[in-house]
Amino acid sequence: RIPRHEFVPVAYIGAAYEDRPLPIGESETISQPYIVAAMTAAARVNPGDKALEIGTGSGYQAAILAYLGAKVYSIERNFQLADSARARLARLGFETVEVTCGDGTEGHPAAAPYQIILVTAASPEIPAPLMEQLDDGGRLVIPVGDLSHQDLKLLFKHGGQVASRFLDPCQFVPLIGRYGWPEKRDRVH
Ligand code: SAH
Repeated sequence: RIPRHEFVPVAYIGAAYEDRPLPIGESETISQPYIVAAMTAAARVNPGDKALEIGTGSGYQAAILAYLGAKVYSIERNFQLADSARARLARLGFETVEVTCGDGTEGHPAAAPYQIILVTAASPEIPAPLMEQLDDGGRLVIPVGDLSHQDLKLLFKHGGQVASRFLDPCQFVPLIGRYGWPEKRDRVH
């Protein structure tokens, strides 16, 4: 129901319905559909849930969350990607998605707490602000690991306790920011 070909560059339209990530410019990618599905399923979206996405990219994952009835806040650090995702989402009718340009590892305190937080970039650890901004009963889905391989994890917060479940092995582009990886020039592998 979400036209993925609208979220990829013209040169990749022919590959839009293949189950693989595709380049979206700025050295970033739209995630593999299987992974988007796995993250979405793990998030268990209820209509009216507030969802925070870190890494807007093309806006595809944000559109899916909105389609399922979530009020979506999405943060993108690259302002060109943020601008084009905002315009694309509005054009396709997802004008309730709020795209903000900034460092999503700090979360988005203005609209916290969130029932759902999805991190769609690879993180060295779980950014503390995200855990703080997760509601009681909330679900955080995040790829955690090194720069080449990560474990997709579901964290469930309940009564001050956090339960963690391994979902899938995965490979995301890096989460760059205060609670993520440093900029490339400083990065140590
Ligand atoms: N969810 C996207 C795919 C994301 S690719 C989609 O559906 O198309 C990962 C994105 O995370 C990239 O666009 C990258 O610029 C962004 N990113 C990396 N670190 C970030 C940070 N600290 N805050 C916000 N966005 C970040």
